[in-house]
Formats: sequence, structure tokens, C-alpha cells
Amino acid sequence: MPDTSTGLVGLPFPRENKYAAAESAVVERLRSGRLSDTNRGPAIQSLEDAFTDLTGARYALAFNSGTSALHAALHATGAHPEAGIAVSPMTWISALTATLHAGSFPVFCDVEPNGVNLAPAALAAAAPGCSAAVVTHAWGIPAPMDALGHIDEPVALVEDDSHAHGALYLGRPAGSLGAAGCFSLQDAKSVSGGEGGILTTSTRAVYERALTLGHHPHRLQAELSLPDLRPLAQTGAGYKFRMPVLSALIAREQLRTLAERACVAETNLAVLTSTLADRKAPITAPELADGTRRGWYGTPLTVTEPLSEPQALRAAAASAGIPLRPMYDDWVKAPLFQQPDLLRQLWPHVRLSPYAPPEPDALPHYYRARRQTLVIKVPMVAAADYMHAVGRTLADILNRHLNP
Ligand SMILES: *Cc1c(COP(=O)(O)O)cnc(C)c1O
Repeated sequence: MPDTSTGLVGLPFPRENKYAAAESAVVERLRSGRLSDTNRGPAIQSLEDAFTDLTGARYALAFNSGTSALHAALHATGAHPEAGIAVSPMTWISALTATLHAGSFPVFCDVEPNGVNLAPAALAAAAPGCSAAVVTHAWGIPAPMDALGHIDEPVALVEDDSHAHGALYLGRPAGSLGAAGCFSLQDAKSVSGGEGGILTTSTRAVYERALTLGHHPHRLQAELSLPDLRPLAQTGAGYKFRMPVLSALIAREQLRTLAERACVAETNLAVLTSTLADRKAPITAPELADGTRRGWYGTPLTVTEPLSEPQALRAAAASAGIPLRPMYDDWVKAPLFQQPDLLRQLWPHVRLSPYAPPEPDALPHYYRARRQTLVIKVPMVAAADYMHAVGRTLADILNRHLNP
């Protein structure tokens, strides 16, 4: 029974045995004695085809991580040292450093006044000096892609879909909303191969340019068709970004159950939000428009009363057993971005760039969102009792913390 007396959740986080379905495919492949395909072998092909089905994009290309998929997407959309790439700092570090991997640099932009994603107004201000933007659908909440695409001087939008497998924005799937989409298949993501990444695009030139960066010459020989890229068929760029075959088999099995697991998670979140509302807890979940569906990587809840000590609240919640994802580190203030000498040590091309360190004062909504957001991990297996216990405990903590 959940512990109701001491203000603890009192139940363990409900876990699934998420890799069990892949066991027979993995064992069969191990017995084949061959674990590396240089061409587009059957395991990679099956996973890539499943991602074109999921997203509706014309092409999907497997990578060994979400980071390398982002690197390739930014290269493929024309990154260069003289123009920056607009980013919101509310993301994982590699969405920021991928701009540098691709030979450009990050231009930090604020998030929406009432949200967690890149703000169209901030992108409009930065766009004249940028070739592209990385748009993370933070914690699965779809970014305002229409407004981001309708600024005066539009830039290529590269989606970071690492939290948004299966998400929809106004009826259209994440991964089909920009010039390219990039999914991480790392263990914590809702579709996992252990490690891995997928790039999606409907533009042949983006697909082929991404292919040249990190895939084997066998695959380049078979697939490069554009006259300006054909001369790269013998070598490519020689980075090694191919997805291991076993990761592809595992991720393929995970994808089969994504829709069902997302549905269960949606029901779990509804139990949590109704428990919080019944107890008048000062916290809300983002409202999604009709036809918009969240992805799953924890879900962000906004504390609606000003929080002076968010760290104390998070610590109290974590020690009561609330399943929190940690807030991202504040990359804005990290030495890497504040000390251009460090950037130039790692990426000499930054010498050719008009890079300027980000100014925290220019990012008020980012700092508001950092302070007021709690990210809750929602199980993808049926867990009504657990979610009810989490809701009851979190409501107690919020009410105590805000009205001591
Ligand atoms: C996980 C993640 C990445 C990086 O993906 P890897 O597969 O770990 O390289 C990039 N962006 C976001 C938002 C992520 O959550």
C-alpha cells in the first residue's frame, strides 16, 4: 500500500522490461557471426523505413547517436563559420555543441514567455546572422513550428526530436516539421537502441549531404546521386557515424510498442494532473492545441506561484520519492561558452566567427522557466495507483513549501 502517513510516495517507479521483445532478434543476429553492415543492411533498412512511416518524412538515415545526427543535419543544411545557428539553452549540451561540430557556432535565444521552447520573436531577432536553428521539442512539448517558420528572414529549422518520438504538431508528426529532424535513441529516450540516432528529411540534397558525413563508402556508392556529391562516393568525410546493427534491431522492437506506451503514459499523466487539481496544488501541465500530441521524456509542469527557492523544492520532492528529471545545467554560464579561448581550443574555426558569449540578462524567460518548471517522469506502463500517490505527495509538498 502507498504510504499515506509520512508524505512519501511509498511506491517504486513502475518499470517495464523494455528490451525483452528484442531478445530473439538479437540472439539470432549474434549467431550469424556478423555484426557490422557497411551497406544499408536489413536491420538498418527496417529501422529507417519504420522512421519514415512514423514521421511521414521521405528519408530516414541511421546514426550512432542523436549528437551525430544533429551534426550531420547542420552540415547538410549549410552550416559555416561566418553564420551562427540559433539555439535555445533549454536542451541537452550536444544540441548546442553540434553547431560547433558542424563548423558554426551557437547563438543563444530565449524561450517563449509561457513555455519551454525557442521563442519565435527571439529567433526573428537572431536570424539575420544565422544559417539555421536547432529547435528542441523540450520534454516532448512541440515547439511553435509554424511561427518559427514564418519570421521575416526564415532559416533552416533542424528539429531536435530526442524527446518527441511519436509527437504531433497540429496534426503533423515531429520529424517532418523542418528541413531535418534528429532523434536520439539513447537509453533514456522513449525509443531506445541503447545508443543511436535517426535523421529524417524530405529533401534529397539534405539526405545525401548527411550521408557523406559519416557513412561507409559502400553505402555512398550505392546511394549518392547528385552530381556535386558523387565525387565523395569513394571517401565521404570519413567520420564513423554508422549505427551498430544490434542497436537498430533493439530500437526497431521498441518502436512497435511506442503508440501503445504513449497512450498509457497519457492516461498516467491525466491521473496525476487531476489529483493535483483536486488538491488545488499551484501547478499546471502545458495545454496542447487540438491535433498536437506530446512526446515522452518526462513532462514539464509549471509552478504557478513565484518560487524563490526552486532547489529546496526540488530536493524536498526528490527525497519524498517524486520521480523528477533534473533540470538541465545552465549551459549559458558554462566556461565553454563564456570563455571564447576554450571554444577556439576545441574548434579553431571559431577564430573566423563573430561568436559572442551569451548574456544571461537577455534570456529572462529561460531563467523563469528554469525556476518554475518541475519535470516529472511519467511511466509508460499502467500505473494509476502510483500516479495518484505521486500527485497526492507533490500537492502536499507544494502546499507546504509555498504556504509554510
Ligand atoms: C539525448 C539528447 C541528445 C543527444 O542524443 P545522444 O543520442 O545522447 O547523442 C540531444 N538533444 C536532446 C534534447 C537530448 O535529450
